[in-house]
Amino acid sequence: MSILSRIRRRRPVIPDGLWMKCQSCEEIIYTKTLYEGNKLCPKCGYHYPLSARERIALLCDEGSFVERDAYLIPLDPLQFPEYLDKQEKSRSKTKEYEAVVTGVGRIEGIATAIGVMDFGYIGGTMGSVVGEKVTRLIEHACTERLPLLVVSASGGVRMQESIIGLMQMAKTSAALYRLRQARVPYISLLTNPTTGGTTASYASLGDVNIAEPKALICFAGPRVIKQTIRQELPEGFQTAEFLLEHGLLDMVVPRPELKATIARLLRYLLNLPVAGPEAAA
Ligand SMILES: [Zn+2]
Repeated sequence: MSILSRIRRRRPVIPDGLWMKCQSCEEIIYTKTLYEGNKLCPKCGYHYPLSARERIALLCDEGSFVERDAYLIPLDPLQFPEYLDKQEKSRSKTKEYEAVVTGVGRIEGIATAIGVMDFGYIGGTMGSVVGEKVTRLIEHACTERLPLLVVSASGGVRMQESIIGLMQMAKTSAALYRLRQARVPYISLLTNPTTGGTTASYASLGDVNIAEPKALICFAGPRVIKQTIRQELPEGFQTAEFLLEHGLLDMVVPRPELKATIARLLRYLLNLPVAGPEAAA
């Protein structure tokens, strides 16, 4: 037996995925700690992406979320090569029918219309169904006078639907204009990454625009801009912190404080009495 194989035999067997290297600080972290703690790196606090359902569990009171329009699925209007195949793969990977989950849930007891994008489904891209579900949610919020929260995570407009995808920018924005006329509040939460047509429509139109720390938020990505203008980009360009400093965002809120912050904003925007320790303060 060679030395190498003897060493191999003595080495304890570590199951795959028990430890991982943090993609931000490169420290070795215990995967279980990550998954039990809202997916934050325990060493550097890096915010790992959440699926739509994980995000709903984080923000909504337990068992309060009731989904709407769950089974809307897109057609393939342009007969784009492999589009149906891609949908099928994303559906089995994420167990979702599209890149956004919409419904009504309670946040610290406040009934709220909630839409959450799932980046795992074709990069959280916006096609006809994402636009339609978000628009229906806005219209429902308007009719029922429910405050609206949309959590974005998106690669932009879905190119497989081309102009039909692009149209969703105007459609969702017009619906939000009506919501504003009805004086129903809207909070937008932008998470890593929120880009393209999603940034350029509903994600940026909140009465309050919040982002998670270090989230990439942009229309065109840094590489595209760099190649186009052939100039060095400023430090931290297109991160949530940079955009907060330059006026595109209102707040950058770490994940553990999100629910309480959103609830506090909702109470303020809806003119509800303050709750819990705030009331005593
Ligand atoms: Zn880390």
